[in-house]
Amino acid sequence: MTALLSLDHVTKAFAGKDGNPLEILHSTTLVIGHGERIAIVGPSGSGKSTLLSLLGTLDMPTSGTLAYDGENVADMGEKRRSVLRAARIGFVFQQFHLIATVSALENVMTGLQYTALPRAARREQATEALEQVGLGERLFHKPSQLSGGEQQRVAIARALAKKPDIIFADEPTGALDTDTGHAIIELLMGAADQGASLVVVTHDPSIAARFPRRLHIQDGVVTELG
Ligand code: ADP
Ligand code: MG
Repeated sequence: MTALLSLDHVTKAFAGKDGNPLEILHSTTLVIGHGERIAIVGPSGSGKSTLLSLLGTLDMPTSGTLAYDGENVADMGEKRRSVLRAARIGFVFQQFHLIATVSALENVMTGLQYTALPRAARREQATEALEQVGLGERLFHKPSQLSGGEQQRVAIARALAKKPDIIFADEPTGALDTDTGHAIIELLMGAADQGASLVVVTHDPSIAARFPRRLHIQDGVVTELG
């Protein structure tokens, strides 16, 4: 497996209550391969979302190096980083983060805005992604007209439509019942079958157990499990 993302002694600090920097993520070195499936587990406040933000280039390390396909993300500049995020990285969140006022189809099309594709082509790609997650009959429903599980499927379709290199999902099943949650993980695994890397934060041990590689975070220290 070749490296997609490499972290070399990456740390993250935020300003603490006294104004002094407080290190939230301690020195972390790890490699994520192309097509690799990883679960991240650990208690609330341990740094899971912070790590995901760094991996997804939403935030920058305080020290250390993060490389994407061998290129140092710090050297890219914000413009190229935002293109990288838009074109090659998919995000899925616990609270779905859909636009409430527009249809499932329009929501998925927003994920393709970075492309220079004409609207008809974006519409076609978005329709295919919604069909892939089993929502071919729900294209024109607004989020409020869909169940929680269906809304999360729309969010997954939005991530899949761009055929990303990697998908980050931060507690994607946290707002769903157990069976719906496992169906959502099934869909994400299906995306990984097509070659995307997959990194999922979860509190659910039965979900973590489905991943071949598990990382545990406690107080900002990352360790490999099993
Ligand atoms: P988890 O996702 O594991 O619950 P987080 O990564 O969200 O944990 O947070 C880890 C710690 O970092 C928490 O103590 C949180 O308060 C702190 N933290 C996260 N983001 C910020 C920020 N932008 N500024 C200050 N502290 C933050
Ligand atoms: Mg979190």
